Amino acid sequence: MSEIRSFIKALKKLPGIGEKSAERIVFFLLDKEKGNKIREEIKKALIEMENIKECKQCHNYTKDSLCSICNDTSREKDKILIVETPFDIEIIEESKIYNGLYHVLGGVLSPINGIDSSKLHIESLIRRVNRDVKEIIIATGTGTEGEATAIYLKDILKPYNVNVSRIATGVPKGMDITLTDRSTLKEAIKHRKNYED
Ligand SMILES: [Zn+2]
Repeated sequence: MSEIRSFIKALKKLPGIGEKSAERIVFFLLDKEKGNKIREEIKKALIEMENIKECKQCHNYTKDSLCSICNDTSREKDKILIVETPFDIEIIEESKIYNGLYHVLGGVLSPINGIDSSKLHIESLIRRVNRDVKEIIIATGTGTEGEATAIYLKDILKPYNVNVSRIATGVPKGMDITLTDRSTLKEAIKHRKNYED
């Protein structure tokens, strides 16, 4: 049936979904008992996703123009922690170790994939660095691209009067912070190191 074929085709565009898994998902969703309920849940979630936008300050996900963290007056406004994605924020928030603000880069520098500095939220980061900001913590992944991005950020932040630190290598080398277990991440932030000149 063409409806089923086009659904499978759409699912295959998702990361990590191949032909076989797409087929399995579609046949599961067509199941009268189990499928119906989940189809409703997905439909509702997809409609709600339409309201999600980017925080105009930190690029976190939000329903309003500013996200709940940027809007929270109890947060320490003199600290900005730089992460790759909004999912990293969720993990750090769960760990409850950090009470400052965030900045989502939207990825890391990756020449192979054609991602240069203009594709990341770096300009908006620089605009946020004013005299109220005392510390910037770089929490990009510890793989080659994450490290290269951290060094790039450290260099462009040099002219500003701000303390730049990097999460400790308690995060295993080559691992994204989203894959790191909570306690390791806590240690990595707690033992962050200042960049030496
Ligand atoms: Zn925000």
